[in-house]
Order: sequence, then C-alpha cells, then structure tokens
Amino acid sequence: MRITSWRSELTLLAAALGGGLLVGWLLGHPILGAAAGATLFSLRSIVNLRALHQWLNYTTDNEPPEARGLWGDLFDSLYRLQRSGRSERERLRGLVNYMRESFSSLPYGAVMIDPEASIEWSNRAAEHLLGLRYPDDTGQQLLNLLRSPDFVAYFESEAYSKPLDMASPAQPDRWLQIHLTFFGQRSRLLFVRDVTQTHRLEEMRKEFVANVSHELRTPLTVISGYLETFADNPEQLPPRWRRAVEQMLQQSRRMKALISDLLLLSRLETVPQATQQARLALRPMLESIAEEAQAAAEGERQITVEVDDELLLVGRAEELRSAFANLVFNAARYTEPGGDIVLRWYGDQAGGYLQVEDDGAGIAPEHIPRLTERFYRVDTSRSMDTGGTGLGLAIVKHVLLRHQATLSITSILGRGSCFTCVFPRERVIAAA
Ligand code: ADP
Repeated sequence: MRITSWRSELTLLAAALGGGLLVGWLLGHPILGAAAGATLFSLRSIVNLRALHQWLNYTTDNEPPEARGLWGDLFDSLYRLQRSGRSERERLRGLVNYMRESFSSLPYGAVMIDPEASIEWSNRAAEHLLGLRYPDDTGQQLLNLLRSPDFVAYFESEAYSKPLDMASPAQPDRWLQIHLTFFGQRSRLLFVRDVTQTHRLEEMRKEFVANVSHELRTPLTVISGYLETFADNPEQLPPRWRRAVEQMLQQSRRMKALISDLLLLSRLETVPQATQQARLALRPMLESIAEEAQAAAEGERQITVEVDDELLLVGRAEELRSAFANLVFNAARYTEPGGDIVLRWYGDQAGGYLQVEDDGAGIAPEHIPRLTERFYRVDTSRSMDTGGTGLGLAIVKHVLLRHQATLSITSILGRGSCFTCVFPRERVIAAA
C-alpha cells in the first residue's frame, strides 16, 4: 500500500474533523460539528467496508468496487492477490489432470488407497485387470472389492518388499503381479500388471521338466537293472568290460539321483501348500538322517545330535526330512574323514532353528548368495566325485519357502560352514 494513500486518508480525516469543527464553531457548537465530521468519515468507511464484503462474498468474479484513496488501493491489492491465487489454482489443477491422464494411460493398473484402506482413485488398466471402476468405487473399502485370501493376506501383512502373483479377479484366466507401496501419511499405491505370458511359460517349463524326468525314469531303471546284474556277476564278463560296467553303473546311479531330485523339485513347485501338516518331534528324524549320512560317507564322521525335545515343528514330514537330509549329507560330503558335524534344533521368542554345522571345507563368501541356485557348484569336480546332483540346496530352499522359513548360511573357507533353517514362531509349538 502506498504511503500517499495513507497520507490522503489522514488528510481526509483531518479535513472532516477540521471542517466539522469550523462549521460547528460558526453555528456555536464546535464539539458537535467535530463529532458530525467524524461520523461522516466513519460512514464513508462503513460504506466501503460493505462494498468490500459484497464483492468478496458474492461477486468475486467481477472487478473490485470503485473507491478512492486508501480504500481504492486496498481493493486493487486484494484483486491482484485473488487473480494470482486463481491462476495458481488453475495451474495446479492442470498439473493434477495431466498426472491423472498420464497415469490413466499407463499399461499398468494403478490404485491410490487412503490410510483407511478406501479407494481414492484408480486408472483404466485397474478397471480392466482388477474390475475396479472409477469414480463409482471411490470411497469403497478396497478389501470389500478384492477379496482373494492371498491378496487380503498380502495387503494386511504390510510387508511389501516382494510382489504378489495371483489370478485376476476380473478375468480368472489372466495372471497378475501386484505391488504395493506406502506413501504420504500411510496412504498406499497399488501397481498391477498382467504377467499371464510369463506365468504360462513358467508353467510350461515346470511341466516339461516334470514330464522329461518322469519319462526318463523307466528306461533308466531297465538299464541300471541290467548293469546291476552284470556287476553282481563280474566273473561272467570279459575282463576288459568289468571296469566299463562298473563306471556305467556308477553314472546310472548319478542319473537316478538327478532324476529323483528333479521330480522332487517339480513336486515342490506344483503341489499346493495346504497339504497335510504334522507336529514333528525332530530327534528321531535327525538321528535316522545322521545314521544314513554316516553310512553313506566314506570314512568316519563324528555326528552329534542336540535337540530341544520340548519343541515340535509343524510341517510336512516328508519334505522337511528331505531338506534336512540334504544339509546333513552335504556336511558329510564336504568334510574330511574324522570331521565333526553337529545337528541342532532349538527355539527362542522369534521362532525355531534347525542348524547343521560342520568343520569341513567351508565356502568362500562370493559363492554363498548363489548356492541355492539349481546346479550351482563351488567346485564342480569335487561335487560330482562326492555324488552331488547340484540340486540339494535348491530343494532345501523350496521346502523352506513352503514352510515360510528361510535358509541362513555362514561359512569360513577352510574352517567349516553352518546352515540354519529359520522357522517362524507359528510353526514351533511346545511338546506337551
Ligand atoms: P551338490 O549336490 O553339488 O552338493 P548342493 O545344491 O547341495 O549341490 O550344494 C551346492 C554347492 O554348495 C555344492 O556344490 C558345494 O560346493 C557347496 N556346499 C554345500 N554344502 C556345503 C558344505 N556343508 N560345505 C562346503 N560346501 C558346501
């Protein structure tokens, strides 16, 4: 506001008071005259205030009311403020619309969910993939519209580091990958994309491996049957054939082990998780695995079993046995005769731990993250010599995944390794 407006306003006030005083003095009532001047000045202010009130509340789109001096300046300043606020609002609205447009045209579905889990906004792809309609479904609870148990569990877990794969609720023959993230004050953003093609390829891969393994089993049984017969009667073979038959038999055994591991892996990938769960006491299972590993290893190993008998593990016995056996056989394989192996089962507040510790060859740190990949071997020739298929730890990983457990590996090269299966608390219960 300019200083001159203030000055002219004060001059006007002085003129009203002075003029009133002069007229009053001429009429013999100077005080009354000054009061009349002040009243006229106040009336002018009230008239201008009323005009401002009218303009701000009822006619904001129009130009401001006409006024002079300080009031005129005030109206002009307010008008300028109003205009710049309006154009800023318009700019922001344009930006929001632009963002919505671009989100709408994404090939991925996007849904914004408020902190109370209601839908705020969703795009066209979300309508097509999830069956959500915008704006009709705005304000609806997301879990009332997407009720698949897998999705409900994922949404409520609030652990969104990995995506969820599930069938589309809108088109059951499509397969979706869903990713959730938090933003702002616990609002959530859901991204969904169609992964039907990848899912089909993955299914085909699983089926192919299962079928090939199954088909190979019968011819291999016949071949190894004959080889066993030959090897049982070496005196009936020409001498130069004896070593060849021995080697063929050894390789056919390796192939059998490979096929049975491949079949086990495909079973683990395809059989639904909700099959029989039992409460397992681990001492008998671990002791029998220890005996088998002892018998299979060339040379003595000191295998100790330390079990907390108060704790039972809830799971599928056959699968868990094969996972634990793989860990124990590996420990025996990669430990020199005379080495020590300890099998432990114990628990704490967080869950249960099945540990296989050895003082054998150990593993260099760069290999550890890749050990559970299929056919990954640190030392191929040693692994083959010891009868490994390269699938043992992949089987362990899958079995644990099906029990919501994880595998933790610590190792020092030349000193030994420790493989720990970490089970969640829900899977560990007291024996009595
Ligand atoms: P393999 O049949 O070759 O043993 P696994 O999947 O069971 O296949 O193991 C993968 C690789 O991890 C092995 O080839 C071996 O190099 C390494 N490994 C597994 N267990 C141990 C262990 N206890 N000590 C040292 N190395 C191990």
